[in-house]
Amino acid sequence: MGAGDYVVHEAMELLSFTKDITIYTDGKELQVSEKFAEAAKKFNINSKAIYRIDGNEFLQKIFFKDGTSEDIDGLFIAYESPSSVDFARKLGIIVEGNAVVVDKNQQTNLEGLFAAGDCTGGFKQIATAVGQGALAGKRMVEYVNSLRIEKSAL
Ligand SMILES: Cc1cc2nc3c(=O)[nH]c(=O)nc-3n(C[C@H](O)[C@H](O)[C@H](O)COP(=O)(O)OP(=O)(O)OC[C@H]3O[C@@H](n4cnc5c(N)ncnc54)[C@H](O)[C@@H]3O)c2cc1C
Repeated sequence: MGAGDYVVHEAMELLSFTKDITIYTDGKELQVSEKFAEAAKKFNINSKAIYRIDGNEFLQKIFFKDGTSEDIDGLFIAYESPSSVDFARKLGIIVEGNAVVVDKNQQTNLEGLFAAGDCTGGFKQIATAVGQGALAGKRMVEYVNSLRIEKSAL
């Protein structure tokens, strides 16, 4: 669901799972840059204004203001442009507000995945980002080395 480059980008990501993808623009005209114009042709485009979405355990149906409806298996929101933490949310990384949650080693809740700088919230300054980045880099090296040691012990 969206009406710009971002929605086409996200739809392309889904192509490895299914070819049955519709872009819902919610009454807007799909406006994509030259870069995404060709890719956009791969998808069904539905420009009807959305009235409501419905389902039981999972999302099942999308209703339009003109009284029609379509069956759906899921809906991904891709309005405007991605925020810096959208990527994190999709990976299942814990995010509070607009900040990726990290421990004192800059590690997220996903082992081996580290974050630093503005995306972690707090004092948004270059010095903070560089300092956190340096620590994250060091801990990443240590993490990768620990995997090598575990592997060589097998
Ligand atoms: C107007 C302004 C003035 C500032 N003045 C100062 C100052 O005087 N002194 C100071 O210390 N700090 C200042 N800051 C803050 C400083 O710019 C930031 O704290 C710092 O740049 C953070 O660095 P970062 O690497 O964490 O994030 P960023 O510098 O924002 O870098 C993140 C990068 O990731 C890219 N990105 C985001 N999402 C994705 C994605 N999904 N895929 C690929 N790439 C992605 C972005 O395009 C960006 O290039 C200022 C900020 C602003 C906005």
